Amino acid sequence: MTRIRQLATTDADFDARLAAICDAQGALNQSVIEATDAIIGKVRSAGDAAVVELTRKFDAREIESIEELRVSIDELQAAVARLPEGGYEQLSLAAQRIEWFHQHQKQDSWRVTDALGNTLGQRVSPLDSVGVYVPGGKASYPSSVLMNTIPAKVAGVERIVMVSPSPRGEINDWVLAAAYLAGVDEVITIGGAQAVAALAYGTESIQAVDKIVGPGNAYVAAAKRAVYGQVGIDMIAGPSEVLIITDGSVDPDWIAMDMFAQCEHDEMAQALVLCPDTQFLEQVQGSIARLLPTLERQAIIAAALEGRSALIATRDLADAAAVSNRLAPEHLELAVADPEALLEEIKHAGAVFLGAYATESLGDYCAGPNHVLPTSGTARFSSPLGVYDFEKRSSIIKVAAHAGQRLGECTSMLARAEGLTAHARSAEMRFKGDEPPQL
Ligand code: NAD
Repeated sequence: MTRIRQLATTDADFDARLAAICDAQGALNQSVIEATDAIIGKVRSAGDAAVVELTRKFDAREIESIEELRVSIDELQAAVARLPEGGYEQLSLAAQRIEWFHQHQKQDSWRVTDALGNTLGQRVSPLDSVGVYVPGGKASYPSSVLMNTIPAKVAGVERIVMVSPSPRGEINDWVLAAAYLAGVDEVITIGGAQAVAALAYGTESIQAVDKIVGPGNAYVAAAKRAVYGQVGIDMIAGPSEVLIITDGSVDPDWIAMDMFAQCEHDEMAQALVLCPDTQFLEQVQGSIARLLPTLERQAIIAAALEGRSALIATRDLADAAAVSNRLAPEHLELAVADPEALLEEIKHAGAVFLGAYATESLGDYCAGPNHVLPTSGTARFSSPLGVYDFEKRSSIIKVAAHAGQRLGECTSMLARAEGLTAHARSAEMRFKGDEPPQL
């Protein structure tokens, strides 16, 4: 029987035990980094030929050119038609809700006039082009297509290229249909480090992009890290995690199933439940034992439950919130009678689900907010993927001759203090004397 570990915040060694299970051991191993660097080097030097060779090798594709790996918009549309009954409607509902939510994230350019009469501002503009990596090695993720593409579309990105490997030429209809719905411009069925390198540096037939987003396996993560600087990237995601704070007012089966939902991602996933009621935690343990055998991915779930997961008894809900703030979880469920009150005590989390009905799985697919979230405590300083990740800002500085005098004096003195006399003189030339220069 799967026995999940039980901790209490009052245990003398609680901090050490919590730290041990929260260590994601996420460092990319050296052999993956070396293999990835070699692949990137090949793509940079041999372009299309390298991408074709590596795709033949890793994805078992019998192809001779990149063109054979492209999927046309007509083929995307055909995939929509092949979805099971109701599939298009449900995918559309998810897409519409994600778009509607992300529309609210759009930022406006702005300008202000200072007391001297100068105009200053910020212009917000979309990136020109973005590459979206959609994993395709072992499973398919249409929800990742929607979550990574729609914010880029809302930002106004003109060229969105989706790459996704299709082992042995098998392409998932849901992924293609999602690409169609989300408005992807180009689809190329390549994957791994070679796809990331091709998007970052370009090849004869693949035009480079400005930013690469989307999850993937260790080779994809290592490649994204390696090409950062040449292009932007979204983040390097660690194992997925949920932290559930409950007061015991919900069905323990619901809590157990939410833990399973997180844990079925992979063996390194984490589910923590924090509750002041130890009897309720025992009930959750009972629900786990009863329900786990009914699940398809029970082996993965059991490994994740026994690996980095725990049921944690807390002094009270404030104590639970304090532990949560220390961990800054990717997903935080507040399954309590008054979630709004508890939310007041939460400082860090990728996404917060309020109340017993807001299960994290809705957030993965169709609630609207993005499911690409900061993991491994990085919610302390970073945010969910959003429209702002596909926008950039330019500062605008407009100085009138009559309004710049004071800025010229200031620049002159500070630049001379730094020993940068050309800076000082370029300001002095313009603003020495009260009269604007006659040109
Ligand atoms: P993938 O598309 O990430 O990787 C497949 C590619 O890896 C292959 O095309 C190949 O090019 C490359 N590859 C495989 N073995 C290799 C080797 N020995 N040397 C060099 N390259 C090699 O698909 P996947 O493997 O199924 O992995 C998907 C990953 O994405 C999983 O770890 C999954 O948990 C993760 N994921 C994360 C999220 C998230 O939101 N964080 C969402 C979906 C998936």
